[in-house]
Amino acid sequence: MPQSFKTLDDLSDITGKRVLLRVDLNVPMDSGRVTDTTRIERVLPTIRELSGKGAKVILLAHFGRPKGERVAEMSLAPVAPAVAELLEKPVAFADDCIGPAAVNAIAALPDGGVLLLENTRYHKGEEKNDPEFASQLAANGDIYVNDAFSAAHRAHGSTEGIARLLPAYAGRTMQAELEALGSALGEPVRPVLAVVGGAKVSSKIDLLENLVSKVDMLVIGGGMANTFLAANGTDVGKSLCEHDLADTARKIMTAAEAANCEIVLPDDAVVAREFKAGADNKTVALDAIPADAMILDVGAASINTVISKIDAAKTLVWNGPLGAFEIAPFDKATVAAAQHAADNTRAGKLNSVAGGGDTVAALNHAGAAASFSYVSTAGGAFLEWLEGKELPGVKALEG
Ligand code: AMP
Repeated sequence: MPQSFKTLDDLSDITGKRVLLRVDLNVPMDSGRVTDTTRIERVLPTIRELSGKGAKVILLAHFGRPKGERVAEMSLAPVAPAVAELLEKPVAFADDCIGPAAVNAIAALPDGGVLLLENTRYHKGEEKNDPEFASQLAANGDIYVNDAFSAAHRAHGSTEGIARLLPAYAGRTMQAELEALGSALGEPVRPVLAVVGGAKVSSKIDLLENLVSKVDMLVIGGGMANTFLAANGTDVGKSLCEHDLADTARKIMTAAEAANCEIVLPDDAVVAREFKAGADNKTVALDAIPADAMILDVGAASINTVISKIDAAKTLVWNGPLGAFEIAPFDKATVAAAQHAADNTRAGKLNSVAGGGDTVAALNHAGAAASFSYVSTAGGAFLEWLEGKELPGVKALEG
């Protein structure tokens, strides 16, 4: 696919140039210490590359939701030493992202130096995408690089507004994410299989509607499958089920048929009377779900079907677990399918892209995440992309 955005490969001599680099440093913290460094690690390659080429690297990031106020607990100050430790290089900090504090810190930055500016959301203009705020940010740089795909679904000053004011490029992590997503739904190798699970249809209507128009097979599992089964006349007992969405489910099935997308619903179910680990359970046919029980996973027959669909696919897009994977043994189908997809990926037979909060946890639980072709940790941005929505932060890079 021709790339519609510029990358670091398109930058020539950047020695001494001020590069404003938007990153996602919205890391989990406890008592002023970073407890999970995944997001920091993801942006290190871009920081290293820019710094290695002699640029003055100025990091822009948000933290939490201070709603335009200076909320002390949402300062990025404690994140600077965490970045420095992983980067193995000093990271300066300025206590404002615009104005004299930023200007002075940038003036003091040597070529190749790295500086973190305070939380962009301390200013109301950030979330409002106020042009005045964006131009104050842009005034501090010569070049803009966005490496925060996870913030790209928001049209904010530091993600969208600024990209319109400076020469704009995708960082290495953004580039990898966009390339992976493009290979999965842009111009994928067919057949394409989507596996969608999770709790509710209501949170994924747009996503399902978009996928049926793009993929060849759509496996629906998890709690949301119950709504589809019920819409087809199955009595799902006490299962999580959005009966009011029966029409929506039917519409999605009709749209799938029209688009030649095969919808694959569970063939059987693992049921229990309690939602808890180790609860007494049994596998039943769909016409034998006890009135006082709930479906907590898909059964063995369904696992075999999902595995056969994975074998039939060359591209896989996955969001959402097939069952209540947090409580054993209801993690069985999710683990089996994830491991099978991982095996096929390792064997070079499958391009597998997965994402969304619980999906990352589920694939990690299955020990499968590392073998997937790409696992997005982007959450909201990944879901909006699955919904087929334009991401303003990405659009702005495309010019
Ligand atoms: P989501 O955030 O929509 O991807 O939903 C993930 C959640 O769906 C997980 O916490 C699972 O435990 C839950 N889930 C999956 N299958 C079921 C099910 N059959 N019944 C109830 N909850 C489920």
